[in-house]
Amino acid sequence: MALYPLFADLRSRAVLVVGGGAVAERKAGRLLAAGALVTVGAPELSAGLREKAARGVVRHLCGRFEPHWLDGAWLVVAATGDADVNRRIAECAERRRVLVNVVDDAVLSSFHVPAVVERAPLVVAISSGGAAPALASHVRGRIEALLEPSLGALATLAQRWRGRLRERLPDAAARRRFFERCLLGPVADLLRRGRAEAAEAELARALAGPAAAPQGSVVLVGAGPGDPGLLTLAALRALGTADVILHDRLVSAEVLALARRDAEAIDVGKRVGGHRSQQDEIHALMLFHARAGRRVVRLKAGDPFVFGRGGEELEFLRAHGVAYEVVPGITAALACAAYAGVPLTHREHAQSARLVTAHCRDSLDTLDWPALAAERQTLAVYMGVAGLETLRARLLEHGRAPGTPFALVENGSRREQRVVTGTLAELPERARAHAVQAPALLILGEVAALAQCLHWFGAPPLGRATEPIREARAA
Ligand code: SAH
Repeated sequence: MALYPLFADLRSRAVLVVGGGAVAERKAGRLLAAGALVTVGAPELSAGLREKAARGVVRHLCGRFEPHWLDGAWLVVAATGDADVNRRIAECAERRRVLVNVVDDAVLSSFHVPAVVERAPLVVAISSGGAAPALASHVRGRIEALLEPSLGALATLAQRWRGRLRERLPDAAARRRFFERCLLGPVADLLRRGRAEAAEAELARALAGPAAAPQGSVVLVGAGPGDPGLLTLAALRALGTADVILHDRLVSAEVLALARRDAEAIDVGKRVGGHRSQQDEIHALMLFHARAGRRVVRLKAGDPFVFGRGGEELEFLRAHGVAYEVVPGITAALACAAYAGVPLTHREHAQSARLVTAHCRDSLDTLDWPALAAERQTLAVYMGVAGLETLRARLLEHGRAPGTPFALVENGSRREQRVVTGTLAELPERARAHAVQAPALLILGEVAALAQCLHWFGAPPLGRATEPIREARAA
């Protein structure tokens, strides 16, 4: 069925809804919202419709459908729930050339009502031509997730400035370029941050000034632990509008695949030991691309503010006058705990959880070991696997019990996730025996024992009782 898509202006136009139940009430509600003059014809009305009729918001024709009800109507919606009556309404409407929608009957309908995503005045309408309404509604949900709520405000602003834009930029192509550079760029950014007045001021400034250099910006985005399903909607939107993406090595290929097709992706990843790219270089790259007017996404594994040097990057951007936003991500501790079936806190086993890093000797020396060795708490240790010996020695030294359970999660949330379990006494040996590699996160504390029974993702934990220890995995 090839349908012609159409947005109808129904303000002050008569529309007939036949039926008085919940469906009719819903249809009437949408028509009223569009400003239509709604008449509802039915022997009985739902409470909601009755109330609307009493207030004079809708007109009520009491009784069973009669063809003259169609007099003067532009559209009719048949929502009687009675197939025969609906068919008669459709036939009468057809004869009188009134467009008719029969609820849930694509064949009898001469117009369909699409599934909509509203960012008024912007509206996205979706139809499957009656083939699969559930699919249309699924697509609607996906588009709903993609379109930021502030798009409505952007459309309203654009509408208000339309005349001035045309006057200042008579050439359509120049207008489109301005729209993309200014309205979809800094103006949209400000609206997203809830700063409507600043957005309008920015638009005025950009339009008045000589073709001023476009303003670039940086969004610091948390990419989560690897599973693209763990991205936030805000992260997805940022990826979808990026010009340049500066990403860490740990950011998964599946996440990068969600970026705008023509965005330039630059791996600025650093590996422990061999620094391929210094922090200074990352700063310089952010500044270079932002000053060239680009939308830069600085994409970091997990959350940008958890052992991610996000703070330093913001300080640098602030010092250089570059606009920025931060989109949080799911940090490795939360993701690994969830995907290994280890609750970080538990009424019976742990009343607190600490995020700790032990990446280098320095950080090992500066940690508060007496506090870290306390019982009934969970340590989530972000680390190179190399530090496990020292970690065990310090914790035992400060009184943590040798039998304290651990779960070491390698590649958390990714298809290749492995979880190695055991006790503090045997931690480095167990990690070596299974050749655990980065990225890996250590969860240590009473709760770690729960991995054995609560695991749900990927292979079961490699625990002593159930699994023989394999020698180096990829020897
Ligand atoms: N900002 C990141 C952490 C960066 S530090 C976050 O919030 O997650 C890098 C450390 O994070 C790694 O050494 C490892 O300990 C941990 N890590 C990151 N992703 C991981 C993953 N998918 N599985 C296990 N550990 C991970």
